[in-house]
Amino acid sequence: MNVLYKSTRSDMEPITASKAILTGLSSDGGLFVPTEVPSLPCSLKEMSEMSYQELAYQIMSQFLSDYTEEELRGCIERAYDVKFDDPAIAPLREADGVYYLELFHGATIAFKDMALSILPHLMTTAAKKNNLENEIVILTATSGDTGKAAMAGFADVPGTSIIVFYPKDGVSKVQEKQMVTQRGENTAVVAIKGNFDDAQNRVKAMFNDQELAKELADKGYQFSSANSINIGRLVPQIVYYVYAYATLLKNGKIAEGDEINITVPTGNFGNILAAYYARQMGLPVKTLVCASNENKVLYDFFASGNYNKNRPFILTSSPSMDILISSNLERLIYHLCGNDPVKNKEFMTALVSGGEYTITEEMREGLKCFVGGFATEEENFAGIKALYEKSGYVIDTHTGIANVVCRRFMDDNKDCTPMVVASTASPFKFSRAVMGAIAPDLQEEDDFKLIDELTKASGVKEPNAITDIRTAPVRHNMVVDKDDMKAAVKEILGL
Ligand SMILES: *Cc1c(COP(=O)(O)O)cnc(C)c1O
Repeated sequence: MNVLYKSTRSDMEPITASKAILTGLSSDGGLFVPTEVPSLPCSLKEMSEMSYQELAYQIMSQFLSDYTEEELRGCIERAYDVKFDDPAIAPLREADGVYYLELFHGATIAFKDMALSILPHLMTTAAKKNNLENEIVILTATSGDTGKAAMAGFADVPGTSIIVFYPKDGVSKVQEKQMVTQRGENTAVVAIKGNFDDAQNRVKAMFNDQELAKELADKGYQFSSANSINIGRLVPQIVYYVYAYATLLKNGKIAEGDEINITVPTGNFGNILAAYYARQMGLPVKTLVCASNENKVLYDFFASGNYNKNRPFILTSSPSMDILISSNLERLIYHLCGNDPVKNKEFMTALVSGGEYTITEEMREGLKCFVGGFATEEENFAGIKALYEKSGYVIDTHTGIANVVCRRFMDDNKDCTPMVVASTASPFKFSRAVMGAIAPDLQEEDDFKLIDELTKASGVKEPNAITDIRTAPVRHNMVVDKDDMKAAVKEILGL
């Protein structure tokens, strides 16, 4: 099958996967979507016998039609190697009756590594395929994890440079330390006075700024996006849901064809959209549970069909999910409209002008495989503690949200379908909040001593990503107002 990509907002001529990956965001402001979703290429039984890398090739080759086998296998080999501290790449751990799919064994101990370790290779391969001579400038807004994972992926990759913006007071200490110590001559990190949506909106505006594009081109640069709107992020994420199923099958936990449920702690809606695509490919998934924190825009949307971002923005202990505009939801809306870019655009225009839109009853039919849930801060902490006390297993505060939501879903619906939870970050990345949950009486000012306590409590070896930042020097200290982001880009690139 030859899968091409078109925009969610206009009837453009479809383009190849490599062009879509290079472009990031369509020039009409839309996101690229596959012209059709391919079926699983081999039987579940066959897939259960494959390594992660082999399965990645089988799944990704279905979507990235214009990459040769050699090119794609090369990208996969360079991405899923010893940077991951577990040979399974995405191991599955059972704790108290739920399967936690650990997506945090890469360079920055969060799930964004799963896609961002391969994206630079997909991009530089795409540049070669398309005879591109400009240097690729990656511009990224991050609520904490994306930025570091993107920099780790792109650092010192020839022909690329990367600029990352993060909300000064919206990320954890460890996240910030990870970012400002980033190595690589082609990396830049800028803190902004504003929140994640401020950063995201301004990055989007810069992508659509024709004048800026021209200035860049004159200097031999062009923007591309490593944000979760890039299709090159989405496709690698489909792999691990299939892998989770294959692992359950291999371990005799399910029989071939049995259904599973999946819960995903959600922010920008990229990770759960990948699970949706896996289901569309034919993976036996009954329900996709979308777990939100107190910024529960998505929960309200699934309950009512009304998406409404007009509400206070709440800072929580799961900062990567503190999002009021879930960019990737646009792809689902487009599919629910029957792949109609005109209808989709009306919703997106309404979101920009009035901050909300309501989908039709007919469109809601297509949402039946989704269930929304949310957890408060208190519920999250209590859930992390209860799981630890029952099983000794320690999860982070993002996974913690999914943990509460999935268990409530299973209880309320008396649903015994095997439940897979996307475990999106190592507890070591959010050690203060996690230790606050499992050992509330512990008073420890020093972040690294706290990490030592977490090592003791969890019985898990301290990840390399943490060991690294204990001593790494700060290399980035730029702080700007949210309205000065464009000026910062020009300064960094010498425009
Ligand atoms: C990014 C992130 C999420 C949210 O994923 P989306 O694809 O944006 O929905 C959840 N948890 C962690 C730890 C993350 O870094």
